[in-house]
Amino acid sequence: MPETIETQLLVLGGGPGGYAAAFLAADHGFRVTLVEARERPGGTCLYVGCIPSKALLHAAKLITDVRDAERIGISYGAPKIDIDAVRGHWQKVVDTLTKNLTGLAKGRKVDFVHGLGKFVNDHTVEVEGGKRYHFEKCIIATGSVPAKPPAFDLPTPRIMDSTGALKLEDVPARLLVVGGGYIGLEMGYVYAALGSKVTVVEMTDGLLPGADRDLVKPLEERLRKLFAEILLSTKVAKVAEIPGGIRATFETPDGKQVEKDFERVLVAVGRRPNSRDIGLDKAGVLVDERGFVKVDAQRKTNMPHIFAIGDIAGEPMLAHKATYEGKIVVEVLAGEPSVYDARAVPAVVFTDPELAWCGLTEGEAKKTNRPVKVLTFPWAYSGRAMTLDRTEGRTKIIVDPETERVLGVGIVGAGAGEMLGEAMIAIEMSATARDIAMTMHAHPTLLETLGEAAEGMYGLSPHQQPKRDKAKA
Ligand code: FAD
Ligand code: NAD
Repeated sequence: MPETIETQLLVLGGGPGGYAAAFLAADHGFRVTLVEARERPGGTCLYVGCIPSKALLHAAKLITDVRDAERIGISYGAPKIDIDAVRGHWQKVVDTLTKNLTGLAKGRKVDFVHGLGKFVNDHTVEVEGGKRYHFEKCIIATGSVPAKPPAFDLPTPRIMDSTGALKLEDVPARLLVVGGGYIGLEMGYVYAALGSKVTVVEMTDGLLPGADRDLVKPLEERLRKLFAEILLSTKVAKVAEIPGGIRATFETPDGKQVEKDFERVLVAVGRRPNSRDIGLDKAGVLVDERGFVKVDAQRKTNMPHIFAIGDIAGEPMLAHKATYEGKIVVEVLAGEPSVYDARAVPAVVFTDPELAWCGLTEGEAKKTNRPVKVLTFPWAYSGRAMTLDRTEGRTKIIVDPETERVLGVGIVGAGAGEMLGEAMIAIEMSATARDIAMTMHAHPTLLETLGEAAEGMYGLSPHQQPKRDKAKA
């Protein structure tokens, strides 16, 4: 019989959901075992997701900022790019962060077990090598993996998923990006800044289908200058290996088939929950038709002693949502009556400009026929945006017309992601547009655009022409 170790709480998967839950549970006095396939905690986010991509996006933004500086009279000439050093930057960051997490696990006496775990029954996980852990409670946090439609299943490193793209093995002369979502645009931006001619193919009629169109527009306009092509309502019907590259066959919106050749292809068409091979059937845990573990508001599965958090427990697949759910579950385990009832989840696409939103979007309001008041402030009126030479941005607030409560905020512009903090607090604290309007915003900052959008509701925005009452004019 394999050795069996008793544990109070077993956390399967050490990403931002799992490690946060494990650490906080240990802080609450639980005896915790954290089983993780990678050598250290960190998950997709730290190893092959948020952190490496943002380090590369920082490098890319430096390149495009320097290029843009020509517009205000500063020229440096063409950049010299040491691709190994660029990759080395993110690897160093990841190494430091994951080592820090190992230290934090040790400090809390979390038993970190390195290996692939699988349920063998509803109270036991077996880790590769044969050790079994018998648990009282369990949190499943095995995250997600890139979706790969069969059409792209060619055995060649030229067809990459996001993990392959982050490796930055070279800067291909022509890169095809399939999917105009988060990864397609962020990694497309990186490769385009480094010198690739990037073609983005998106099957729907717009980039970032979940975001409001008026906010996508300024981003798309800038990306169209940086990328070779953005093809909407277009499908990649076929890819085939040819000497030195990949030949892709596109189905255009008018039904034609067009062939184009690329050195590499990045497939970024979404991610699927990592629920297939972890023995959920043995544990009796149910998944939905897309493979997400079914959970209730406390993130409890149909087995009341087993919880699921993060990407495996449903959309949106974002690191902060995984961590937040981890916090909720630990409170539930500690006997508190907590439930997941976040009013808003922040979303940031870290291109330049960034596109950031939280809470209700105008598109969702339209779809559900919910009456809303939409307040916008174009950055062309912002002194700060002008000093930065970045006037293409736009700040928008979605307000309940009766209560004047802030229901959602969307911002496109340089550094928009950092601006969501105030919006999130406003939504969570049931602030009204007047609360934002009556809050002083430092001058000159981009957050003034949020203040002025709100002031617009009451005719208090000094930098917008008041709407004239035509009858009186
Ligand atoms: P994961 O981070 O996926 O962690 C799951 C862990 O479980 C992994 O470490 C895996 O090794 C482990 N595991 C799986 N199966 C087993 C098993 N059987 N036994 C043991 N261990 C197992 N989100 C953001 O919020 N901001 C961003 O900027 C952002 N950028 C991204 C960029 C890219 C390129 C990608 C791919 C994703 C990005 N995301 C971003 C999404 C983010 O990475 C995920 O939402 C987040 O990592 C989910 O956390 P999680 O804890 O649910 O799962
Ligand atoms: P995504 O869902 O963001 O975008 C996928 C895009 O591919 C969609 O626009 C979809 O319409 C399109 N698509 C699907 N099938 C297609 C096909 N056959 N041909 C052409 N287009 C097709 O998915 P992603 O970009 O792979 O990212 C996965 C997830 O990872 C995101 O949804 C997000 O949750 C997370 N992520 C977050 C960040 C961030 O927070 N900044 C960054 C990267 C990834």
